[in-house]
Amino acid sequence: MEKIVMNNPIVEMDGDEMTRILWAMIKKELLEPYIELNTEYYDLGLPYRDETEDRVTVEAGEAIRRLRVGVKCATITPNDQRVEEYKLKKMWNSPNATIRAILDGTVFRAPIILDCIKPAVRSWKKPIVIARHAYGDIYKALEFEVHGPGRAELLFTGKDGAERRETVYEFDCPGVLMAMHNHEKSVRSFAHACFRFALDQKQDLWFGAKDTILKTYDQYFKNTFTEIFESEYATAFKDAGIEYFYTLIDDACARVVRSEGGFIWACKNYDGDVMSDLVSTAFGSLALMTSVLVSPDGCFFYEAAHGTVTRHYYRYLEGGEATANPIATIFAWTGALRKSGEMDGNGRLTQFADALEAACLGAMESGTITNDLKSLCEITEPNVVNTADFLAAIKNNLDKAVI
Ligand code: NAP
Ligand code: MG
Repeated sequence: MEKIVMNNPIVEMDGDEMTRILWAMIKKELLEPYIELNTEYYDLGLPYRDETEDRVTVEAGEAIRRLRVGVKCATITPNDQRVEEYKLKKMWNSPNATIRAILDGTVFRAPIILDCIKPAVRSWKKPIVIARHAYGDIYKALEFEVHGPGRAELLFTGKDGAERRETVYEFDCPGVLMAMHNHEKSVRSFAHACFRFALDQKQDLWFGAKDTILKTYDQYFKNTFTEIFESEYATAFKDAGIEYFYTLIDDACARVVRSEGGFIWACKNYDGDVMSDLVSTAFGSLALMTSVLVSPDGCFFYEAAHGTVTRHYYRYLEGGEATANPIATIFAWTGALRKSGEMDGNGRLTQFADALEAACLGAMESGTITNDLKSLCEITEPNVVNTADFLAAIKNNLDKAVI
């Protein structure tokens, strides 16, 4: 087969620990034999982030803005223990948070569905994609304890000095207090990202909030979505045969469990944090969850939803074989390659992405799996293999499909 040529580069971001090993294996076995890979490479591994004082992360984020498609390997978010382990100059920020701040995007998490792994919810047949608003609310809240009686007030001072003051509560005993915010630009870009992604995926969009209780705060989200939908997306949704649907968050939860899936569920920040863990676990495994960040101006940034699989890496360093599941990382690549193919009108590249995904699903459906799926898979006596043998089984399927 003649190698597929990519007209335009995509941004490739390498990472840490076990997933860095997987990254190299995937490229060598499943990508480079078929594609003349055209990537702008950024090493986001922790040692190089430290060496460049994290400049490399910012450069990678800016490159995604420029090239519009990126694929990223999982990376370590440093904490105290990592600062010690890697002798870091500083506790650098989470690379994902840095890149998200540059792109101002919304994260969509989608499970990979297999016949042989039944979701915990019996009615679910198609993926449920969670779109989490990734700015503000309780994640940027101000909170403190009050230690005795007194009045809590909310005060807003306008640029012109005008004040608006409201009593939150008259405390007659100790208690606790919080104020949180969001802003127009962020809520609007969240709404745009959700509507665009729904059109891109040709899937219905659901949105749930608590506007019956937060008659101003959540109503603001609800109204922003409605206004943007009516003025900019209603016709395109109709043409695509998809729907936008708003309901109360508790009703949304009940409907999600009764549904057969196949839609995008837009969630406010906290709801998305909680629901994405619930939905991903109910679908099967973190190792089968992909993630794409879509910016309001149409940049796409793909990755696996899981981390660097540290425990496996330490075992690997001690001479153990690689056994981690590479599927979500492969699907990050196929997502990016397909998107690049679509943007460039490169049919061979999109076909390759489809074929590689089918080869992965085929391997698992026929019972060749990594150890993490053993207890979930309904196939009797599955063929549990290490990462290298798993990639070989996928490659074998791929070679039958790609001539
Ligand atoms: P993790 O790497 O997702 O791993 C948690 C556990 O889930 C693993 O120990 C493993 O369980 C299982 N697992 C996850 N992915 C797997 C795979 N592909 N194959 C097989 N098993 C898999 O989360 P973590 O241990 O909390 O975090 C490790 C590092 O990753 C941290 O430094 C964190 O900062 C970073 N992280 C990065 C990202 C990102 O880059 N987006 C996201 C999350 C975490 P068993 O050990 O039981 O087999
Ligand atoms: Mg969470």
